[in-house]
Amino acid sequence: MSDNMFVLNGREVSFDPGQTILEAAEACGVQIPTLCHLKGTTPTGECRICVVEVQGADMLVTSCSTPVEAGMQVKTESPRVVTERKKILEQLLTSGNHNCAISGSDNGNWTEFQLQVQKNDASSELCPVWGDCKLQELAYQYQVKITPSSPQRDYYPSEMANPMIIRDFSRCILCGRCIKACNEVQVNRAISMGYEGDKAKVVTPGDHPLSESDCVFCGECVQACPVGALVEKKARHIWRPWETEKIRTTCPYCGVGCQQLLHVKDGKIVKVTGVEDAEPNQGRLCVKGRFGYDFIYSKDRLKTPLIRENNEFREASWDEALDLVARKFKEIIRENGPDAIAGVSCARSINEDSYQMQKLFRAVIGTNNIDHCART
Ligand code: SF4
Ligand code: SF4
Ligand code: SF4
Repeated sequence: MSDNMFVLNGREVSFDPGQTILEAAEACGVQIPTLCHLKGTTPTGECRICVVEVQGADMLVTSCSTPVEAGMQVKTESPRVVTERKKILEQLLTSGNHNCAISGSDNGNWTEFQLQVQKNDASSELCPVWGDCKLQELAYQYQVKITPSSPQRDYYPSEMANPMIIRDFSRCILCGRCIKACNEVQVNRAISMGYEGDKAKVVTPGDHPLSESDCVFCGECVQACPVGALVEKKARHIWRPWETEKIRTTCPYCGVGCQQLLHVKDGKIVKVTGVEDAEPNQGRLCVKGRFGYDFIYSKDRLKTPLIRENNEFREASWDEALDLVARKFKEIIRENGPDAIAGVSCARSINEDSYQMQKLFRAVIGTNNIDHCART
């Protein structure tokens, strides 16, 4: 076997030097489940759901943090691996308030269980991420069920105080993805793991609510959370994945051109996420791009040009407004020359519009007085 080959589920495949087992497997189309792994950040092997069997190794190894070696023989779904994954999933499900259909669905105490869930959630709705949850998906895949009598940790109450994000500690599986998203992807360093053992919790310095911390509400942690522990406040309980259409678009706020997905239900945006693996943002968004979409539904939004007459605005057609602007520009140029006019282009404009704006000012009006406003 050559230096860049190893055996994956009985098949000889190649790998690149430095690749982990997880990366090499993905590169040849073999999916290994992950929960804590966040692409592009330091792997921790925290959740251990990605364990695989390596011939000759006493213990199962975490594929996200183990480099491939030439000649290695790896099995990703052996009976030993599947048994371990089921055990891990059961522990994760029992560690929190996981009231989706998997939990105790064949248990006689279902009503009692649901009443407890209702008390924890202060709502009779199903978990807000039901149908869009990695833990739920894996529990179905590996057919893991828990019962209401399973041991559960004491939950910290949900943090509802923040303007954009609800932190539901009862559903947190302590995978650490949010911390990696905050510290390594966005480099905001607003959160870390705090306390120990049963009391472990994702905290801000001093364990204050996000709204009293260095958090800038970029929402990267929400996008990274594989379960319902972090949810968008505005989107909670108003959508399910099968009810929405995902429409890719460019963020309207500034000239960076971040790629985003609008989750649209009945013609209305219910949430926004960044497009993973797309330039320039690779899934990242700022607070405006992720949460600032309400303005498009504002009743105060201008829909027609306004012309000021006698200190009052009146609605006008585009033709009338543009004719008026052209007439005034001509008057100013005639009386004071083209440098008496300056253009300020909106920083939210796309590159092509900004290019046209400077062309209009330089080539048509005849001035270099052209700039754009600072990004807002
Ligand atoms: S977080 Fe996931 S696993 Fe837990 S209740 Fe919600 S859907 Fe189920
Ligand atoms: S919203 Fe952004 S800054 Fe705040 S905790 Fe999440 S990732 Fe960090
Ligand atoms: S809040 Fe979500 S991403 Fe963060 S540790 Fe908990 S489950 Fe993981």
